[in-house]
Amino acid sequence: IAGHEANYEVTVGPVPGGGAVCTFVDISEQEQISQLRRDFVANVSHELRTPLTSLLGFIETLQGPARDDPAARDRFLGIMAREAGRMTRLVRDLLSLSRVEAEERQRPAGQVDLGGLLLQVAATLKPLAGDAGVTLTVTGAEVPCLIRGDGDQLTQVFHNLIENAVKYGGSGKRVEVGLSVLSGASGMPGRAALVAVRDHGEGIDEIHLPRLTERFYRVDSHRSREKGGTGLGLAIVKHIVSRHRGRLKIESEKGKGSIFAVILPAE
Ligand code: ADP
Repeated sequence: IAGHEANYEVTVGPVPGGGAVCTFVDISEQEQISQLRRDFVANVSHELRTPLTSLLGFIETLQGPARDDPAARDRFLGIMAREAGRMTRLVRDLLSLSRVEAEERQRPAGQVDLGGLLLQVAATLKPLAGDAGVTLTVTGAEVPCLIRGDGDQLTQVFHNLIENAVKYGGSGKRVEVGLSVLSGASGMPGRAALVAVRDHGEGIDEIHLPRLTERFYRVDSHRSREKGGTGLGLAIVKHIVSRHRGRLKIESEKGKGSIFAVILPAE
């Protein structure tokens, strides 16, 4: 069909008394969905195969040449534990993603105090920040701010964003989490909560920003894996924020750092 690029399924049938009816069904969207599904399965298989291949290799070495070498055995067992940990995290994130996708259309019914939740998440991540030499601060947590939402899911959103800021924010730098309440001007009908997670790390090149929340999209795969990433964290964040009728905004400048901001409708 001129001017409209798409894939059509065409059926032609006879009409009683002569002539024919020709039906065109636009199947571009179904094809796109099938392609996405195939890509996802290929990605998952690849992500699982890499640690599995490494585990099998080390098992063979331990059964053979390294059998009587205690130093090598300890080193290999350490690597094997790391690879098994990677698989565990991947399976955990896949399950999370499938759950949040399934629930995306149901409005959450709970009530969440956002300031308290942010303090809790920051406390959980303090040891990780300490190990990375990162100073983690939370401001505005005392601002009364109630959200209609799912506490576990919102915890996961801010856990993923703050963990990323610590992981990619550069050692010895600051990570600042700020909560503020906006009225109007936020693109939301009423009051809204704004949580901004800012780091002063390597930043992200502009060309990557639109694809950052795709499953398994990484700016630097090697670095993400080295940091224990699964490539699913921001995809999970996107779905949870959308379930809460919120918005995720990413601003970044190469070499200067990034801001991941979540805007949620407040009660
Ligand atoms: P991962 O498990 O790899 O961290 P995410 O979905 O959480 O996966 O993030 C996707 C990619 O976005 C990361 O691999 C990283 O390249 C980039 N990224 C996320 N947060 C930041 C940040 N604060 N600074 C720089 N890059 C980031």
